[in-house]
Amino acid sequence: MILEQYSIGVGDRFAHQGAAQLCALQEAERRGVTIVPVWNKSFREHSIVGTKPGDTRSAADSAVKERGWKNSYYVDADHIGLKNVDLFIDSSNFFTLDVADYIGKTAGEKDIEIFIRSMSKYLAAFPMPGVRTTTKVTEAELLAIGRKYLYAVQEAGRIYRHIAAKKGLDHFVAEVSTDEANEPQTPAQLFFILAALSHEGVKVQTIAPKFTGSFLKGIDYVGSVAAFSTEFEEDLLVIAHAVKTFDLPKNLKLSVHSGSDKFSLYPIIHRAIKKHSAGLHLKTAGTTWLEELIGLAMAGGAGLDTAKQVYVKAYDRIDELCKPYETVIDIDRAKLPDPRTVLSWTSEEYANALRHNQKDPRYNLHFRQLLHVGYKVAAEMGDSYLQMLKASREIIGKNVTENLFDRHIKPIFLSS
Ligand SMILES: [Zn+2]
Repeated sequence: MILEQYSIGVGDRFAHQGAAQLCALQEAERRGVTIVPVWNKSFREHSIVGTKPGDTRSAADSAVKERGWKNSYYVDADHIGLKNVDLFIDSSNFFTLDVADYIGKTAGEKDIEIFIRSMSKYLAAFPMPGVRTTTKVTEAELLAIGRKYLYAVQEAGRIYRHIAAKKGLDHFVAEVSTDEANEPQTPAQLFFILAALSHEGVKVQTIAPKFTGSFLKGIDYVGSVAAFSTEFEEDLLVIAHAVKTFDLPKNLKLSVHSGSDKFSLYPIIHRAIKKHSAGLHLKTAGTTWLEELIGLAMAGGAGLDTAKQVYVKAYDRIDELCKPYETVIDIDRAKLPDPRTVLSWTSEEYANALRHNQKDPRYNLHFRQLLHVGYKVAAEMGDSYLQMLKASREIIGKNVTENLFDRHIKPIFLSS
């Protein structure tokens, strides 16, 4: 199974917006760019919403049918590890092997020795044309890379072989993610991580490193855009070189996680992937749920009431809701609107506070982040929430499609 050049992580918490998301991809195709969808829902999301991996598969299949989508599509077992991968074996054909927690755990001395011995000859890859942040990797640095990353790579190998034994080598796409690590990986580190993955026999088709700066959920990039730009381009060069040097899939590409709403990076990513004819996987999904809330608010009446209730309850349970997302949100509680104020809002007031339009002074990124993690509240509303989605299907769908196409696909994948 060979993943296409451009892919986008879609999906939604409540599995009602698949068709609306496909609409955006069909619009891209009409304009000459094929981007394939990868429905992703992590174990964390499934646990919070109370769904099973098979539900994501059914939602994807029925959206594809409804929209008559002719290209490939994938269902991602997002951020899995050995302890929960089995739940996803039947329904997924894309696996994001998350090994961030294993970074820093030290591999056996013997294994490190073998790593150093087999990698030493690749030290000559640096200086690498175009990569200016690392001009030379010393033996000592290689040893440090081995100590820090080899165990995580071996863990990726363990998960990969486990999946391959159950599904067969050619029946899934493997992504390796370290984006939830504490520190970013430099382009040079990425090169040796890829070397080690090849050595471990992992046919990795997309890799999600942790980039410089903060990728918070549902809001724009926080950090130095210039530093990201350099790093992203150097990562592309390193990957191209690694593919030529090691036994790795030719279509190996970068994956950008928490990729929703990183508006200040999109023009940079667009230019870089065009310049280097590189592929890209962009993982978005969580903000589809926010478009549902915007749609409900705009529908007015009971829809608006539901959207308000979600906020009122989320505000009350902020600690609990933020806990699983601690490292990927940054909410200033003093800037959250008072629930009583929100209860008095009109449709426009609610939608404008939530919609990610940085030019609108009414946009509130703290309000947006709290609602982003507040989907548990809607999940607990059960059927009454799902009924609301159905009642306002049209206006929600319009918001979902526009958000994905205009704000994401257009600036990243379509030439301006
Ligand atoms: Zn991730």
